[in-house]
Amino acid sequence: MKGRVAVYTDPRGPLEIREYPVPDPLPGGVLVRMRQANLCGSDLHFWRGHGPFAPGTPIVLGHEGVGTVAALGAGVTTDNLGRALRVGDRIVYSYFKPCGKCWACVSGKAACPTRNRDWIGRRADESPYFNGTYGDYHYLFPGHWIYRVPDELPDELASPVNCALCEVIYALHRGRITLGDTVVVQGAGGLGLYAAAVARELGAAHVVAFDRLPARLDLARQFGADVTVNVDETTPEEREVIVRDHSDGIGADLVIELVGSPAVVPEGIRLLRPGGTYVWVGNIGVGRCVEIEPAQVVRLHKSILGIIAYEQWAIPRALDFLLRTRAKYPFRKIISHQFPFERVNEALAVADAGECIRAALVF
Ligand SMILES: [Zn+2]
Ligand SMILES: [Zn+2]
Repeated sequence: MKGRVAVYTDPRGPLEIREYPVPDPLPGGVLVRMRQANLCGSDLHFWRGHGPFAPGTPIVLGHEGVGTVAALGAGVTTDNLGRALRVGDRIVYSYFKPCGKCWACVSGKAACPTRNRDWIGRRADESPYFNGTYGDYHYLFPGHWIYRVPDELPDELASPVNCALCEVIYALHRGRITLGDTVVVQGAGGLGLYAAAVARELGAAHVVAFDRLPARLDLARQFGADVTVNVDETTPEEREVIVRDHSDGIGADLVIELVGSPAVVPEGIRLLRPGGTYVWVGNIGVGRCVEIEPAQVVRLHKSILGIIAYEQWAIPRALDFLLRTRAKYPFRKIISHQFPFERVNEALAVADAGECIRAALVF
């Protein structure tokens, strides 16, 4: 049996669809038949050439998605909550896998530096080939966190769980929202929309969303933001006044960066109240810098947290969050564009132009 994968080799080059033999899963592993795979900002960063691999290396991008169990390796009978797992079950799963044997892992942090070794750490032209979600199959080595998806959640809702939604839930958990907080969301793309809703559900009094696209700001209001600000129509000084107006004059308790541009960082620091927390999520592009004034952070006891990846509990809680709130927030709108898998390069072009909330490949 053969299957297709979309292979990246050079920055901004087209992904090439190749066919490879589909391997059987190892004992403890799972072979996933993809149903929907989304284009995440990380995939775009990598495609633009900001990834941690040498140009010319063939890589299967794609890490966000939902699929069904195509084959179970020996010994796999349940998901990670002990529920029976069978061929054909719809699942979401961690695309990364902590090694369990480094200082991050043994101290219980989500920062394992080799967590992506079976994804972008493997070449697309070497077995098992199906290393990411941009393919008919995704080959999971033993040890990934796998959860059955409730029937009530369609693929459009479930597919962003294993990256976008879990990332936001974990980031806001680490940033600690307290009842009545004022939260600023920099960037109202897919992650920003989730952040508005999750911050609201965690008890924020005010959610202030920044973006430059009016359509995204409209959506942010539907996702729980009570204040939306177009950054192209306001100055940083005006935005600081808006945030103070919604925080008893003191500034935001928490700012979350979901833009993926270093340029927004100095402003995020300034918007925080004394003692506030700035959570960085979007800036994963290697080698991209900005100048900041550390005294702004030190003198006012501000905290900065960098968050990538998450702890296992985030997946079942994300699924539960969607089940409980799916009538309240228009989660289907997060997947704004869908393309058949073979049109992956059109999907990339749309996502690269910033014209969509989230583009998806369907199989
Ligand atoms: Zn992602
Ligand atoms: Zn580790």
